[in-house]
Amino acid sequence: MARGEAIGCFGLTEPDFGSDPSGMRTRAEKDADGYVLHGSKMWITNGSVADVAVVWAKLDGNVRGFLVEKGTKGFSARDIPGKFSLRVSVTSELSLDRVKVGPDSLLPGTEGLKSALSCLTQARYGIAWGGVGSALACFDEALRYAKTRVQFGKPIASFQLVQKKLADMATQITLAQLLALRLGRLKEEGKADFLHVSVAKRNNVAMALDVARTCRDILGANGITDEYQVGRHLCNLESVYTYEGTHDIHTLILGQALTGIAAYGD
Ligand SMILES: Cc1cc2nc3c(=O)[nH]c(=O)nc-3n(C[C@H](O)[C@H](O)[C@H](O)COP(=O)(O)OP(=O)(O)OC[C@H]3O[C@@H](n4cnc5c(N)ncnc54)[C@H](O)[C@@H]3O)c2cc1C
Repeated sequence: MARGEAIGCFGLTEPDFGSDPSGMRTRAEKDADGYVLHGSKMWITNGSVADVAVVWAKLDGNVRGFLVEKGTKGFSARDIPGKFSLRVSVTSELSLDRVKVGPDSLLPGTEGLKSALSCLTQARYGIAWGGVGSALACFDEALRYAKTRVQFGKPIASFQLVQKKLADMATQITLAQLLALRLGRLKEEGKADFLHVSVAKRNNVAMALDVARTCRDILGANGITDEYQVGRHLCNLESVYTYEGTHDIHTLILGQALTGIAAYGD
């Protein structure tokens, strides 16, 4: 996988357990030859094209990670049709019908849900930067458009209301860049933890969604066509707002850290 020769996927979410993965129903049982996995996973990026899946399952009540190779008997993936967001990547349902895997399929050192969540902390760090990229792409397009689109005999960029939108967006993007940069520096120093990552994922994706929506507005009717890219970013960012911890769940993670009171789960 590191050499880019194999594709992987990460199977945590289930049909009935999204924000609350601790309730997962997928089970692993030890048998004489290794483990038997049974259950299903939902919304798994690259599920049907992956050579190997990391599947999180409960073994004796503890969440553990298992590697399941494509083609293993009882293991299948079905793509979820009709997405209007992140259409370039497939998103799949994984079905595990008493799948037998060897003893070395168990990821060593995975103990409890925190192992799965520690992977997500890495992915969410990348998303904090990705949000900035999407926002910049939309802003760049809207700025160029505003300078050339003429209404009332002048480019719309000359109107104060449009300039305010541009100034607000440039400020928000810059703040998000600084947040991601600071987080990156903390990470390099080995000091970034999941709370820092929650602040950045939550803020930067919400910022990008707001920016994409404002840019769509600046483009007028053109903003709803695929001739411009804001619509694509807008739809894609809706997924990013939900995956890797929804915006609300990151709010509650931060709320718990600040108050010491968990407003969700136990
Ligand atoms: C394109 C895409 C790709 C994905 N890829 C993967 C992948 O590769 N691997 C993987 O494991 N998963 C993946 N996911 C799944 C993603 O992580 C989940 O969608 C996400 O965790 C939310 O779960 P859910 O969709 O079941 O929503 P739910 O958990 O049902 O949430 C619905 C709404 O309820 C809110 N909510 C839930 N609980 C609370 C609470 N206690 N308080 C307040 N509000 C609450 C949420 O914030 C949200 O607004 C992907 C999703 C998408 C859209």
